[in-house]
Amino acid sequence: MTPARVWPASNSGPASGVAAFPPEVVDLAMGAALDAARACAETGDVPVGATVFGPGGVVTVAGNSREGHADPTAHAEIAALRAAASLAGEWRLEECGIAVTLEPCPMCAGALVNARLRLLVYGASDPKAGAAGSLYNICQDPRLNHRLDVIPGFRGEEAGRLLSEFFDQRR
Ligand SMILES: [Zn+2]
Repeated sequence: MTPARVWPASNSGPASGVAAFPPEVVDLAMGAALDAARACAETGDVPVGATVFGPGGVVTVAGNSREGHADPTAHAEIAALRAAASLAGEWRLEECGIAVTLEPCPMCAGALVNARLRLLVYGASDPKAGAAGSLYNICQDPRLNHRLDVIPGFRGEEAGRLLSEFFDQRR
């Protein structure tokens, strides 16, 4: 599967972050993130899931547990990154990408840059807090010392449906 849209990290040259990962790995990673999102909705957390992946497959998967852990920083991306860095034994995750069901917030987008990830793939856009294209584009800000390729809207309908079902049920 070829992504419909890719925002390369730089205007010159190919999108190297995209080329680094087989499309089936990216799809598998998003599938795992969607499963994690469904699971965290069961504990009353907003259904957002994240998967750190390498060229060979999924590395770590996590769901949002802000309610579960009573922790404002317990977003899915942060948990997946922490677990992946712990496995790797270092904070640099240069060979990895991340699939997230919802566009990352400013905190998480900053964490992706700090982890030196190569690729961000996200599902639904977040017009209220998105920092990978909607309100900010922290992942591709030329003033920062690292940029990622970004694939927005990947299985976005599935991810968006999870969120709207969750909020409909709470009303
Ligand atoms: Zn976040």
